[in-house]
Amino acid sequence: MSASTIRKAKKLVESGGVEQLEPNLFQIRSSSDPSKSYFVESDTCECPGFKNFYKLHHGKGLKANCSHLEAVRIFKEQNKS
Ligand SMILES: [Zn+2]
Repeated sequence: MSASTIRKAKKLVESGGVEQLEPNLFQIRSSSDPSKSYFVESDTCECPGFKNFYKLHHGKGLKANCSHLEAVRIFKEQNKS
């Protein structure tokens, strides 16, 4: 994962762009268009970057990631009880 993905993810969390709807369902505001948001459920994101990842790396055994999934990971880390 690139450093810019992590930077973007941190910014999303810090700006309150991550909202937990259900234990495994999060709504993440799009960093490029604040009027848009993406839903992250478990390890899946509905953004184009996430979907393209599997198209580009199909069958290589890699796990897709995007700034939204990373933001959820950081969010969970910060909200651990
Ligand atoms: Zn995403």
